Amino acid sequence: MQRVSVSKISDYTDQEVTINGWLYNIRSSGKLMFPEIRDGSGIIQGVVVKSAVSERVWEDFSKLTQESSIKVKGTVSKHPKKEGVFELQINDVEIIQIAEPYPITPKEHGVEFLMDRRHLWLRSPRQVSILRVRNEIIQTIRDYMYDNGFILFDTPIFTPNACEGTSTLFSTEYFDMGKAYLSQSGQLYAEAGAMALGKVYTLGPTFRAENSMTRRHLTEFWMMEPEMAFYDIDDDMDLIEDFLENVVQRVLKNCRKELELLGRNVSKLENVKKPFPRITYDEAIEILIKKDIPLIRKTSNGEEQIRPFPWGEDFGAPHEEAIVEDFDKPVMVHRWPAEAKSFYMKRDPSNPKIALGVDVLAPEGFGEIIGGSQREDNFAELEKRIIEHQLPLEEFQWFLDLRRYGSVPHSGFGLGIERMVNWICNLENIREAIPFARRPNRITP
Ligand code: ATP
Ligand code: MG
Repeated sequence: MQRVSVSKISDYTDQEVTINGWLYNIRSSGKLMFPEIRDGSGIIQGVVVKSAVSERVWEDFSKLTQESSIKVKGTVSKHPKKEGVFELQINDVEIIQIAEPYPITPKEHGVEFLMDRRHLWLRSPRQVSILRVRNEIIQTIRDYMYDNGFILFDTPIFTPNACEGTSTLFSTEYFDMGKAYLSQSGQLYAEAGAMALGKVYTLGPTFRAENSMTRRHLTEFWMMEPEMAFYDIDDDMDLIEDFLENVVQRVLKNCRKELELLGRNVSKLENVKKPFPRITYDEAIEILIKKDIPLIRKTSNGEEQIRPFPWGEDFGAPHEEAIVEDFDKPVMVHRWPAEAKSFYMKRDPSNPKIALGVDVLAPEGFGEIIGGSQREDNFAELEKRIIEHQLPLEEFQWFLDLRRYGSVPHSGFGLGIERMVNWICNLENIREAIPFARRPNRITP
């Protein structure tokens, strides 16, 4: 007997198969029962005809509760009315375990209730679809990188220093060597990788101790960071464009069913084709001023609105939304005020106030998905910047070595995997974009 997965069921029309799974739902009408069986790859409706099965099989099905684990045998048939839908004409069942009353029923539950039961919530068709899309995104990234000559370069999670100071870092004791910090980016190490291998990428978990309970921030998230020797900021943007088009179009092709189940308007994703709009920070500010979007600054007695939006400030969610509003593709905002950006970004040779950075804002108001830049490749400039930022110079000697020994122009970027999932799946909140979200108020389950 063939053991098959629901996703492959169409290959077995009119054949006898076994499906191992869980009872998702069951309806009965006297002499017929319609169990829906899920196996992780999909859900199939079974048909149990009382007169056609043994008494034992009929009674076993009568006992089954939601999420009971079973092995069923039957013949695959085409649904009499629905094109492309298959059913299983069941002739036997083996019960593995009868589930206790399941806490998550098809009725509506509050999000906190569901997050407390995340380990079970993951089984719902919506969560399964999101995780399948996440899988496709990551697989596409890996394939794209591999096919384009990038070498996977795994960077450490324990680090002695920070890219941008220690205020947003989680720390832990590291034997008798003092504090170690959980990495918030693999970039500095990836730069060493690029000088060794030309084009590299890292893909791993990163940590930010920011106490922000927004719809877009996790304290632990996954980031993909390519780093390329001999790439300037324009090469960087060319890569971002090609890369994003590739990922989005392949997910569209391979995850149609999942996106449909999620109610995603796929025509918006179909638009994600090169070229993407490239606007400077100054042009982005003009949009904010024209739309009269103020900077909101927290003060001791509440909030203060500052108009017009002042040059030099970073964007928050309302600004990102206003900037992308009139575009139907990801928007690349480049050439930022240096003071708003990290110490390692190269300054624009024509204007030292400007850093050669680029942020990519997803369309439809999903916010920043990528932050990238050309890196400072001049030894003296970088050393000066490290001192200005009051970073421990000693800890950065190895990083400066990359500018001492065969320094070259180089660039890279960081893509937040969950931000990408958020956008492609059209999620309300990033907590659904990862199996077990870590946020300032949640570390269980
Ligand atoms: P933001 O301004 O949106 O908080 P950032 O500018 O601090 O992000 P970067 O340091 O540029 O983020 O990190 C690169 C990418 O990592 C971002 O473009 C985003 O996709 C993702 N990212 C950053 N912080 C988080 C977070 N707390 N949770 C999930 N993804 C994140
Ligand atoms: Mg950024």
